[in-house]
Parts: sequence; structure tokens; C-alpha cells
Amino acid sequence: MITNYFLANPCYQPKVYHKLRWRAIYFFSIQMKQLISLRDLEELLRNGGDIRSLPEDVLYTPSARDFLRGFDWKPTSKSAAPSGNSDSTKSAQTGKLPALASSQEEINDWFNSPEMLVHKLVICDIGRRMWERAYCDGNGGNISIRVSPDFVICTPTMVSKGFMKPEQMCLVDMEGNQKVGTSKRTSEVLMHLQIMKRQPRAVAIAHCHPPHATAFAVAGIEPPTCILPEQELMIGKVPLAAYRTPGTPEMGRLVADLVEHHNTILMCNHGAVSWSHLGAEDAYWKMEILESFCRTVWVASQLGVPLKTMTGEQLQDLLKIKQTLGIPDPRIGHQMLT
Ligand SMILES: [Zn+2]
Repeated sequence: MITNYFLANPCYQPKVYHKLRWRAIYFFSIQMKQLISLRDLEELLRNGGDIRSLPEDVLYTPSARDFLRGFDWKPTSKSAAPSGNSDSTKSAQTGKLPALASSQEEINDWFNSPEMLVHKLVICDIGRRMWERAYCDGNGGNISIRVSPDFVICTPTMVSKGFMKPEQMCLVDMEGNQKVGTSKRTSEVLMHLQIMKRQPRAVAIAHCHPPHATAFAVAGIEPPTCILPEQELMIGKVPLAAYRTPGTPEMGRLVADLVEHHNTILMCNHGAVSWSHLGAEDAYWKMEILESFCRTVWVASQLGVPLKTMTGEQLQDLLKIKQTLGIPDPRIGHQMLT
């Protein structure tokens, strides 16, 4: 059973000792502070702290107070028990996952828990990096994380990915019905859900329009293989899905048809989408690697000589490393569904 995709993600748990040590140091330091800012709170949550145990005898900046208001948080004495005593609040505190049959109150509490805030902050952070690297334009691009067997957190529609706030995130079920969130979910989450259903290993999905990769999608050309080790190791062959109107079931089906054997796909006249079995950071890395690769191939193609490629034997060496890293690739006989 899926318990916590974020904590299961090796990108976020390099060394347990290191993490716990820093968590203790950070929590101690925030307890000693006289003025707590929004940044302090974000750092606290990133380090696994619990805002419900923050002291009352300190000052909070206005932005920190606004942030805490989103949790229905009230300052309590240092020795007080965490606020709230309903069963649903208890389940949010203990990390018990609500199911489709859970009450709306229970789902709301869970969605507003510190654990879910970490997922929301990760999505905001990745969105900002996408925007800064010009991978998305206007309100383009979307990100999702499967946070339980029944639910997915995703980005809202009509919002720049560079300036998203945690409170704008949406919770949807696997049919795309929005369960929580004041902003409307992106229509393209339907494609994300189709990918997750077809590829149960997909725990996070990133979609954006990086210009060089999208240029290949517009030209209808699959990026070449056997050029750069990073591309082969982390991604491999990138297939093209035919154009359909974004957000429609047909678009989702065409992409879903490819995710059994490919973790990154180009959508003709649209952009790129990637799924990860590790987490949102890994899904985003695939966008960086693909875009860097397509840019390099494009620049190298201007130099007037045929591009050099690695040999079949050299490719096999990379595929062996890929296998040891646990990264699926149909060329090494990995069944992506296992
Ligand atoms: Zn798009």
C-alpha cells in the first residue's frame, strides 16, 4: 500500500541520520527565535517539523501569520497538546490516509496537514524552476503528485507556474473530481490520471513546454538516441504522441498508450510530459535533461558535420548502469509495470 510517496523518494532522503540531525537542530533553533518568518515556517516543514508545536510566546511576521491561518492554527502554550481533537484531525496527525469513502471533513483535514503542505511546497518549487527556465509560458505546464491510492495533488488552472502558492493546490480523485481546493484544477490533470492508471509506478508527473524539446514535437521528429549518456541513462528513447486538443480524453489516451515503455513523451504541436516512479523532483529532472539534450542536438546540428554517436557496445554499458540504478528501459527487458 502506498504510504508516503514523498518520504519514499530517494531524492528527498539521502541520509536518514543527516536529516534527523538537521531536523533536531532546526526545530531547536526555531524554538529559540523571537520572530518567526514565512521562510522559517517553510524551512521547518521541509525539515519535518510540526507547526502545531510552535511556541506562543514569540512574534510572527504578517506573512507567517497568513500562512498559519491556512492551517486553522492558533498559538498554543509550549506544553499544550496539538489543537483539534476530532477523529479526522487525529487521522491527519497520524498520517492515516483517507479513502474515497472518508468524510469531507477528514479529507479536508488531511489535505491541510503539514505532510500535504510539503507536497504542495515541492510543487510550487518545481513550478518556479520551470518558469525560471522558460519551460512554461502564461499559465502553461502542470505538475501532479499521487499522494495516496485514491488521491492526487495537482496544480490549478490559469496560474503562472512561477508564482504558485501552496494554498492554490487542488486535490482530485482518480477520476479527476476535485475534492478540495479553492482554485480550479488544471484540465490536463486528466492526462496525468490516465498515465497513472496505465502506469501504476507513476507517482508524479510533470508537463511543460520547454522550447527546444517542443521544437522537436512541432517538427514531428523524435530526438536521436546514442548521443549523450545522461539522456540514455535517465530517459532513453522519447516517442511522439500525435496532436489532440490538450485536456481531452483522446490526448490522454495517446500518451497513456506510450507510458508502459517510456517515461518521457513528446506531444506533437504541444510539449513534453514525464512520469516518475520516484517523485516530482525526478519527473522534473527528466524535463531538464530532455530540454538540455534537445538544445545540444540542435546546436551541434549547426556545426556542419555529422553528429558522432556511441557504439552499440557503449550503449549496452550504459544500459547495464541503468539497470543497476533501477531505471526502467524496454531495451534492457525491464517490464515497467513490475
Ligand atoms: Zn500543455
